[in-house]
Amino acid sequence: MSDLTDKLKEYEDFELAFLFKYQKSNFLDATYKKIEDEINSRNLNSKDINFLINRKLKVRINNHKLNVCPRCTSEKIISSREESDLQENVGLYKYTPIYFEHRTCGVCGWDFAKNLTRFDKRKILKIFLVSIFISIVFTLLFRLLLKLQELIW
Ligand SMILES: [Zn+2]
Repeated sequence: MSDLTDKLKEYEDFELAFLFKYQKSNFLDATYKKIEDEINSRNLNSKDINFLINRKLKVRINNHKLNVCPRCTSEKIISSREESDLQENVGLYKYTPIYFEHRTCGVCGWDFAKNLTRFDKRKILKIFLVSIFISIVFTLLFRLLLKLQELIW
């Protein structure tokens, strides 16, 4: 028994399903084999795997809390401190590196910094549409004012 095999026992069925489907390219063959073995030992077939994944993908996590993956709902979040590309200039040769906490899902690989939830996408679309609407309204108002000015003068 290796450490990984023991660790996989702690995974819930859906977590194994996501590991299996979403992380294949990130694992060495030997590691992937262990995931497969664990899945087989639980008698999960590919239909079960798809069912488990689809059920979780339907869950809507609107305000994603940082300790729950918005895609697979797992709480196995990996957090690491990374140096940002942006650097704060302090002096000529000195700078303070800016760190940020980089979070990824340890199960499906969701990147909290890069991936957008459906909720995020909708929010972005809403902001976009509202800003277009506002600019149209202002253009019309401006034209109306010009017309009024012509009429008055
Ligand atoms: Zn996940």
